[in-house]
Amino acid sequence: MKATVLHAPGDVRFEDVAEPQILKPTDAIIRLAATCICGSDLWPFRGLQPLDEPMHMGHEYCGTVIEVGSAVTSVRPGQFVVGSFVLSDNTCPHCRHGFQSSCEQREFMTGAQAPYARVPLADGTLVALDSQPDDDLIPSLLAVSDVLGTGWYAADAARVQPGSTVAVVGDGAVGIMGVLAAKQMGAERIIAMSRHKSRQDLALEYGATDIVTERGAEGVARIRELTGHVGADSVLECVGTDESMHQAIDCARPGGSIGFVGVPHGVELAGDYLFFAQKNLLGGPAPVRRFMPHLLDLVLSRKINPGKVFDLSLPLEDVAEGYRAMDERRAIKTLLRV
Ligand SMILES: [Zn+2]
Repeated sequence: MKATVLHAPGDVRFEDVAEPQILKPTDAIIRLAATCICGSDLWPFRGLQPLDEPMHMGHEYCGTVIEVGSAVTSVRPGQFVVGSFVLSDNTCPHCRHGFQSSCEQREFMTGAQAPYARVPLADGTLVALDSQPDDDLIPSLLAVSDVLGTGWYAADAARVQPGSTVAVVGDGAVGIMGVLAAKQMGAERIIAMSRHKSRQDLALEYGATDIVTERGAEGVARIRELTGHVGADSVLECVGTDESMHQAIDCARPGGSIGFVGVPHGVELAGDYLFFAQKNLLGGPAPVRRFMPHLLDLVLSRKINPGKVFDLSLPLEDVAEGYRAMDERRAIKTLLRV
């Protein structure tokens, strides 16, 4: 089969690779219904993350099980499944506490920008639907795998409550999903920080009540102004740079909470700064598996439509163009049709 391999920064190829096989009794093989490109795929694509050898790309997936290992009991061939980008057993102490992304057996999904993929720890990772979904739901089901699950975690970690005032730092796909999540959790005011019209429009559609175009110190000043000089109850950090992380912490009120889900690149926080800031910080790779049953319910009952975050759809063979479009910010998020 042909699949997506990153050879060097900027050099992503759709080329012949070995078909995935069952390697462990706990594996499943799926045929993908669709896949997509993640903002985090852009870090190695831009050369901002070391690349020692060609990398099989893709960690967001949904599709039909075609084969399972001998130890797999909860899914079977023919079922439509959605899985988290973090593979987990869903039984260890961390999984039982709802932190499947720190599972004792944690692995990260790879090789999903492909027609077929191997999913390790299938029992703990995959959730099967009762029946085949309608075609128009595929983008939203795919979104659950990472981008929605991660935006949801950002809001959960930032302790969004009914009536909360929320600020969202980052207008990438995850930030926009964070707006959707905050709205679902009952936030009263959702301030999206964005300077791009198409992203602002989508954030407003998903429930943002205010848009702030300033960033850095000016952005913080604007949030203070909008919150009666108090700061936001909850801040979702969805970028991962030093500037965005400081911006997020500074936007929260004392005692407020920051959910940070942007993979940190060059973030440095000083001890005395954190000490006097007096704010709650929780972040990391999202334990999407914890939220999946609820998120799948919301999608299947058509209460939410996270699939709208895909504003570019390409055939899988054009994956390289999908990377370029996101790198150049021509697309928020690229769906790849298999
Ligand atoms: Zn576990």
